[in-house]
Amino acid sequence: MTHAEATDAEQEPTTGYGWCSWHDGMSRTIRLIQVQEQGSGPGGSLFACAPCRETHHLVPLADLPDE
Ligand SMILES: [Zn+2]
Repeated sequence: MTHAEATDAEQEPTTGYGWCSWHDGMSRTIRLIQVQEQGSGPGGSLFACAPCRETHHLVPLADLPDE
């Protein structure tokens, strides 16, 4: 009996269901994105879904390197 490496728990732990601020809709692949203040917006943090993260090259806050 071989114990296969279970990979069904390999989902991104911080992915959740929520509102994507980029396409203005709900998604189940929401992740927290750090938005740098640009002076023209409220700044702070927003959430983006997986497709929008690829389209806009967004980096999840949890994936940013520690400084
Ligand atoms: Zn989106």
